[in-house]
Amino acid sequence: MPPGKKARGSPARGRGAAKRRRGSGEPADARRERARAIVARLADAYPARIELDFGNPLELAVATILSAQCTDKRVNEVTRELFQKYRSAADYAAADPEVFQEEIRSTGFFRNKTRSILSFAQALVDEHEGAVPDSMERLVELPGIGRKTANVILGSGFGKNEGVVVDTHVKRVSGRLELSDESDPEKIERDLMELVPRDEWANFGLRMVQHGRYTCTARRPSCDGCPLEEHCPSAYSFV
Ligand code: SF4
Repeated sequence: MPPGKKARGSPARGRGAAKRRRGSGEPADARRERARAIVARLADAYPARIELDFGNPLELAVATILSAQCTDKRVNEVTRELFQKYRSAADYAAADPEVFQEEIRSTGFFRNKTRSILSFAQALVDEHEGAVPDSMERLVELPGIGRKTANVILGSGFGKNEGVVVDTHVKRVSGRLELSDESDPEKIERDLMELVPRDEWANFGLRMVQHGRYTCTARRPSCDGCPLEEHCPSAYSFV
């Protein structure tokens, strides 16, 4: 059974029942309690893991930049060879952009990604002795690194809970679960950080990504069998 699925035939809550129970007027305490239950259900349903292959924070940063608009599977295929050739920030900084573009071409947006990765590596060499910094403040100052990528690096590369990753999946699922009414990723993250205990921030983000990929998909969410159905105001709204 794929991650996140519960067995069919689990007690049905009734279509629209959750929606009728809650709604935009949900008291803050109730929303917080519901968020805690969601955190627990996600922890039962999904491993706290990232699907990008990496061996150190530098490789994770490169893989995360490459993963924009690309599947993790494809990124892993590309980085298998890339990481053999480029082993340090200095290696990337010295790369020939024309050659590098070809090496990562299949991940899409290869010109922008080449610019981001080589500039990022150069900044690491110039400002951080080639090492990836382990603070949000210093990461987001680096070229090619936004708050989402910084959260991935901090959470999965350094085991730090500095924020919650908000990608397209987390954005969609947070809205359906009514954990945030915002559309701006940084505001969604702020809402999630208020609702989720800090020591769960990184793992919660990883699990929400998987939930969005495998269960609460954009077009056809699998509400029947969803481990969060009992706590979701949007359950069965899409069928
Ligand atoms: S799959 Fe359905 S029940 Fe589960 S979180 Fe998404 S909308 Fe809610």
